[in-house]
Amino acid sequence: MPNPGAYDTVKVLLVDDDEDDAIITQALLEQSSLPRFEIDWARSYDAGLTRIKERQYDIGLLDYNLGSRTGIDFLREVHADSPHAPIIMLTGQGNESLVLQALESGAIDYIPKRNISSENLQRTISHGIEKIRLQEELAANQRQLEKTNKELKQRTNEIQRFYHLLAHELKTPLTAASEFVNILLESIPGSLNPAQTDYLHLIQGCCQHLDRNINDLYEITRLETGKLSLNQQPEALAPLVKDVLHYLAPKAQAKNMALHTSLAPDLPHVMMDVQRIRQVLLNLVGNALKFTENGGTILVQAYEDPLCSDRVRVAIQDTGMGIPQSQLTGIFERLYQVEKDPSTASPGLGLGLFICRELVKLHGGTMSATSTLGKGSTFSFTLRCAQ
Ligand code: ADP
Repeated sequence: MPNPGAYDTVKVLLVDDDEDDAIITQALLEQSSLPRFEIDWARSYDAGLTRIKERQYDIGLLDYNLGSRTGIDFLREVHADSPHAPIIMLTGQGNESLVLQALESGAIDYIPKRNISSENLQRTISHGIEKIRLQEELAANQRQLEKTNKELKQRTNEIQRFYHLLAHELKTPLTAASEFVNILLESIPGSLNPAQTDYLHLIQGCCQHLDRNINDLYEITRLETGKLSLNQQPEALAPLVKDVLHYLAPKAQAKNMALHTSLAPDLPHVMMDVQRIRQVLLNLVGNALKFTENGGTILVQAYEDPLCSDRVRVAIQDTGMGIPQSQLTGIFERLYQVEKDPSTASPGLGLGLFICRELVKLHGGTMSATSTLGKGSTFSFTLRCAQ
């Protein structure tokens, strides 16, 4: 669609059954040399409709009074076929409600006939054409966005299918390998010397690490395809926290770390799927152990959330390496890993915290983290109290 500032000629369809008015309008338009207006005058409603269907115009100038029908009828009829046809209404009465009706029926602007002048016409036409150009640009951008969105959804589906397939293909041989390592460790085929036992323990550790990563891949596909459902019941948190810390105690001992708890007395029961919240706690306390130097301390707290009385907050605080503020918001994103010195990097897929946050979200809770670099981090999440 041309912009009159940039184009030499603008094609105008004038629909007006009043000959005197039409002659004046044409004369005013003809005063302009740049752009030059090429005017096609339709003397009746029907003639206007026929022309607009036959030819391409840059702009339409439409009188309100068109015999037994009105410019509003004309607008509705035209816009039923081509919603973006650029039409300016020429209003006789200067009536507010008429103007509103015209704009609602798709007119891009209006000019009261009594104010009509060469400048006024040129300015309104110029604005009208620019408005249509912007609308078309917007519509094109919208179409492009929709296309990109569709492609992205397709790509996400492919990635999910790939995750699932990969997890499946890795899990089966890994389970078999672990089983054979266990058979060897149990000395079923014959006794082992200490070095062989040590190597097999190392292999066992690697298998467990791989197994955790594969499980994370499974969880991601389940979460993202909505196939993960919860079995939430009113449950007490204290036994679960105790169980998780008991499970991780050997790891803490190996790093000479202290595991403390501080659970508020009379803590209400919460709504939770115990296995899933166990998974969250294992991950958060596991990370605290992983990212804290030997000799550090971990504290697990649970208390009624001061900000929301029907929630319990569980917080895991460590005295570890901490996370830079700039990266604190990113750590809950899928596959995110804090940038660090490669010599201190711990292997992982960067899926753990994402899965934890999604699991907590499924419970209707929220998860957040605070941290001071070199001093430690606190990860906390909320759960709904059971009624
Ligand atoms: P990964 O499985 O790779 O450990 P996570 O999603 O569990 O991934 O964690 C993402 C990143 O957040 C980790 O790589 C680590 O850099 C950082 N992180 C998580 N927990 C802690 C913590 N308690 N202290 C310091 N950094 C942490």
